Amino acid sequence: MLIDSYNRVVDYLRISVTERCNFRCNYCMPEKPFSWVPKENLLSFEELFEFIKVAVDEGVNKIRITGGEPLLREGLDKFIKMIYDYKPSIDLAMTTNAFLLKGTAQKLKNAGLKRINVSIDTLKPEVALDIAGKDVLKNVLEGVAEALKVGLKVKVNMVPMRGVNSEEIIDILEYCKQRDISIRFIEYMENAHAKVEIKGLKSPELLEVLSKKYNFSDDGFDGSSPSHYYTMEDGYKFGIIEPYEDDFCKQCNRIRLTAEGKLIPCLYFDEALSIAESIKNDDIKGATDILKEVIKTKPEKNRWGGEDGESSSRAFYETGG
Ligand code: SAM
Ligand code: SF4
Repeated sequence: MLIDSYNRVVDYLRISVTERCNFRCNYCMPEKPFSWVPKENLLSFEELFEFIKVAVDEGVNKIRITGGEPLLREGLDKFIKMIYDYKPSIDLAMTTNAFLLKGTAQKLKNAGLKRINVSIDTLKPEVALDIAGKDVLKNVLEGVAEALKVGLKVKVNMVPMRGVNSEEIIDILEYCKQRDISIRFIEYMENAHAKVEIKGLKSPELLEVLSKKYNFSDDGFDGSSPSHYYTMEDGYKFGIIEPYEDDFCKQCNRIRLTAEGKLIPCLYFDEALSIAESIKNDDIKGATDILKEVIKTKPEKNRWGGEDGESSSRAFYETGG
């Protein structure tokens, strides 16, 4: 079992399989980065899988494939099948913008994928164009419909931003509720790569909007999920991710691996160690030692709510959010 210096059990690995993306979301990657990681520095799926086996053998039981946009990486279904075949009981999920999901959902489900999280920040085509820099909404909604059709469990992530999509909080919640999809509102996290003028809505503002239409109870946190949950009178649950809150990191159970093999203990900070060389040299003991070292250095909390500098220099498209 992997336990960090603050007694938190780390059993969740998030893998960003590519930093590249077909969207240019204003809060994540508004401009094409100055340079991408060179293709030759990316770990192959076989190499990533070698590390996954190490992590699973040490106690990881939940894996999320993310990016950048994971569906841009060819052969993703085969990678998912490798993980599934190694341990079918693993909670195997993916976060995607869904643009390419319509043509891939069935293959991914057949390979062993259980759940997906999809970013839906608006239901208006022109706002989607404004947020993602491209006319994406039709493909995204068709992708979600296909995922539901093939039996993937779907969660929606929305980042509410003042003057951009803050008028659509209820519409997006209703879209999800009608399809029995759960929704999580993610507070915008300041980072050096996002558009400077973005102003995200914080949890109290969101709750004020929602309380004008619904009655709900505060359920608090559920296990190691980062969401603060609320239940409506009809039983529908929604979550809010509040990274600026002091107790947000208390139950953190996750580490992150980038496409070039950097193992990152916290989304906010730049610190990381690379497992690439150990994996390329078949040095399983070396990779295991690096994993344990990274767990040991996992910080107690992020600094989004901190006094100085609430902005992270980490790129979400590199770490996978
Ligand atoms: N491309 C996929 C997608 O958009 O779902 C996966 C990668 S994306 C980096 C993962 C998640 O990070 C998305 O739900 C996105 O909304 C969220 N995200 C990115 N930048 C963010 C920011 N500055 N604040 C809050 N959430 C952010
Ligand atoms: Fe791409 Fe996802 Fe970042 Fe949007 S949030 S730019 S879809 S990685």
